Amino acid sequence: SPQDLVVVGSINVDLTALVERLPGAGETVGGGRLRRDVGGKGANQAVAASRLGARVRMVGAVGSDADGAWAVETIRDAGVDVADVETVGAPTGTALIAVDEAGENQIVVCGGANTLVGAEGIAVGPGEAVLMQLELSLDVVRAVAERAPGFVALNAAPAQPLPADLVERVDLFIVNETEYAAIPELRAARRVAVTYGASGAAMFVDGLEVAKVPAAPVAEVVNTVGAGDAFSAALTLAILSGAPDEQALRTACAVGAAAVAHPSAQPPLDRLETYA
Ligand code: ATP
Repeated sequence: SPQDLVVVGSINVDLTALVERLPGAGETVGGGRLRRDVGGKGANQAVAASRLGARVRMVGAVGSDADGAWAVETIRDAGVDVADVETVGAPTGTALIAVDEAGENQIVVCGGANTLVGAEGIAVGPGEAVLMQLELSLDVVRAVAERAPGFVALNAAPAQPLPADLVERVDLFIVNETEYAAIPELRAARRVAVTYGASGAAMFVDGLEVAKVPAAPVAEVVNTVGAGDAFSAALTLAILSGAPDEQALRTACAVGAAAVAHPSAQPPLDRLETYA
């Protein structure tokens, strides 16, 4: 099917401490409540795409530890093919997150197993589209994009400078407005979707805005973490299905809204058509 998707990306366990206030340097803050969640932009996007109805294969790595086994099981339970998730000799990627009562956060990411993903051995078949992020090494992203025979989407997060060959190869970039400002190379990209949180999203083709849509209404915003991941998966699938830019943005915004209305960064989602 044209919607066979390979997500080459990060797999993390997120350890979130909900605290009254964030600590300063050298300070200890007590009274935290702890959450453990499977996360990582790659895992979140693979799970979202699968829940939206695509056939999804994930390529990535975890450590030979309990977190790794749990993460792989969680991704598999969402319907993702995890045969190409390797177990490697470094701890499973971990994000240490502190969130205060106002929703401000501090995050430390330990890439661990994600940093050991190499480009050798990653094959992309004809008829497979690729979705990546920038939580693996840029060399891997670049090599996979170069050898992929078909459509390549890249959620360029976290922001970093991008080589011209990569910018030229990628069919669809997806970034938030901060990342768009931080990566001037994207002005030269063919197609870039930019998200504006509660203000919706826009599509730029060759640097010119060709479509802009408002956010879908949300009764109560519960958790915005992972909204960008749900949006990225949905937009990629919508564009792959042949939807025009504006319709694809609307669909992706509806999926992003469903994500912020749910506490999890891997929210339950209906099939993509439901949001069209
Ligand atoms: P995150 O890193 O928090 O996952 P992001 O910064 O990558 O998110 P955003 O621009 O915050 O991405 O959100 C992505 C999309 O999700 C937006 O374009 C919008 O469609 C939807 N969204 C985010 N916040 C809201 C909101 N408060 N109300 C409705 N939709 C929202």
